[in-house]
Amino acid sequence: MAQIYERVALIGLGLIASSMAHAMRRAGLAGEIVGTARSAETRDIARELGFCDRVVETATEAVEGADLVVLAIPIGAMDAVAREIGPHLAKGATVTDVGSVKRAVVEAVGPHLPDNVEFIPGHPLAGTEHSGPRSGFAELFENRFTILVPSGNADMDAVTRLTQFWEGMGAKVETMDVDHHDLVLAVTSHTPHLIAYTMVGVADDLRRVTDSEVIKYSAAGFRDFTRIAASDPTMWRDVFLNNKEATLEILGRFTEELFALQRAIRTGDGDHLFDYFTHTRAIRRGIIEAGQDTDAPDFGRIGKKT
Ligand code: NAP
Repeated sequence: MAQIYERVALIGLGLIASSMAHAMRRAGLAGEIVGTARSAETRDIARELGFCDRVVETATEAVEGADLVVLAIPIGAMDAVAREIGPHLAKGATVTDVGSVKRAVVEAVGPHLPDNVEFIPGHPLAGTEHSGPRSGFAELFENRFTILVPSGNADMDAVTRLTQFWEGMGAKVETMDVDHHDLVLAVTSHTPHLIAYTMVGVADDLRRVTDSEVIKYSAAGFRDFTRIAASDPTMWRDVFLNNKEATLEILGRFTEELFALQRAIRTGDGDHLFDYFTHTRAIRRGIIEAGQDTDAPDFGRIGKKT
């Protein structure tokens, strides 16, 4: 794969940015990778691991002369960082982000950018429950979708270039309307995370009653909830604060369905339960057929990094 950008600036050096650096390196997509993070500790770790060519102290320094700038920070930090870098961006640069919510990022970042740069928000649908600069790995985006949400008047050459960049890191790229992205992700990621957080919280209450049984027998399904519920608290707080409407909409529908299942259990309506579970099983099969998970025992997680 040939070089796509001369200098890529990574703002934030956590799971996503460090994985991007490893993947860019592997494919030779960037002439130079410059990175920065908020804390001296993270910058030092990044220097020690060496996944950037240069690690600098500030976002302002990092974006200097960069033809691609990637905001890989929590959603709640986007506004302040965009305000800081706006006046220092190189003319003609592309600015993108990796935030899990898109409407809020468009509103937080867009107003701070000059007219002579292209803002193409993005979201890689890939992650683990780990965070920080040590958690990244080059394969994170392989065979996973990255969704780009360019505005109606985006420069198509810049969109194509960014698409090729993500493809070079192993991703499959799709473009989507901003609000549609937030609704789809509320269904596929945000609400399921909230349910996992809740289930783990409920089990924690129960643990006090049943001593260690919840942990001892967790392989029976609960363990997968605990893995999701171990995700970064800052990131997930920001997701719910910034995708309020869509998550509340899906949560409302979830509650209705839950009540229907509750009634079926109470009234002994086995047909309802059986039909419902048959339908959901077909959805799981569809995900496997689409190559987005494996039907190996234990979800193929044995020996896998995630
Ligand atoms: P992470 O591992 O926690 O890293 C976050 C990075 O942002 C760190 O380098 C941190 O610096 C920096 N940062 C935090 N607050 C900041 C602030 N106020 N100003 C400047 N920098 C700040 O997070 P991540 O998992 O890479 O997530 C980054 C973004 O990717 C988020 O927007 C998230 O929604 C999105 N995303 C995450 C996943 C996932 O599964 N993790 C998947 C897709 C998209 P310090 O280390 O110095 O604090």
